[in-house]
Amino acid sequence: MENDKLAKNINDIQEAQREYLKNNRNFKFKILYFLSPLLLLLPPLFWFQYQKVFASRSSNSKYDEKVLGHFPYFEISKNNLIEIQPNIFVHKDMYSSLLRMKSEAEREGIFLIFLSGFRSIELQEEIFYSLKAARNQIALERAKVSAPPGYSEHSTGFAIDIGDAQNRETDFEVEFENTRAFKWLKRNAAKYHFRLSFDRNHKSVDYEPWHWRYEGSIDSLKIFERANREKNIIN
Ligand SMILES: [Zn+2]
Repeated sequence: MENDKLAKNINDIQEAQREYLKNNRNFKFKILYFLSPLLLLLPPLFWFQYQKVFASRSSNSKYDEKVLGHFPYFEISKNNLIEIQPNIFVHKDMYSSLLRMKSEAEREGIFLIFLSGFRSIELQEEIFYSLKAARNQIALERAKVSAPPGYSEHSTGFAIDIGDAQNRETDFEVEFENTRAFKWLKRNAAKYHFRLSFDRNHKSVDYEPWHWRYEGSIDSLKIFERANREKNIIN
């Protein structure tokens, strides 16, 4: 009898424990259930904060750095330059890639000609302030077709203006895009790590089908990182 009572008590205790645990678990689930909408709010909240802090910082610096739509570029030291055609110098890191591209094109009957490679900031100054001024263009108009001194990809040695040796009348003209040379470049330049700098979608610089830049080394990629990052935002 005493034992029965004890057993019943133990049963009651176990029952009570089970009940307690069940309720307790339910309570935890209930809290989670009510908090879940708040958890869903967290990612957008973080994203919003990120946009507020970082995106505004980068967009401000973007506008601080650029002049008339062009990023600033330093002038490469002369030790890093090699003459690739009479009076046309390019960065030694892109020299062989550029030559390979030219000879590959020639094998397919396309004759590329290099029109302009490295340009010193001094020469860029002459182009921007003398040549373009003589055409009676204000700075904003000039910047659409030529970079201000200190803001040209040409001063890095990693930019090259290319023409079609069989269609010289299209040198530095948008019509260059109709030549076989351009069509070949469009299909093949990426194999040699070249890409168009100013395509039709560029916001502030006019379309320049002849102007290509080299992105086949970490140094060159670092130099063009800002320009590429902006491109990705626009496109
Ligand atoms: Zn150019």
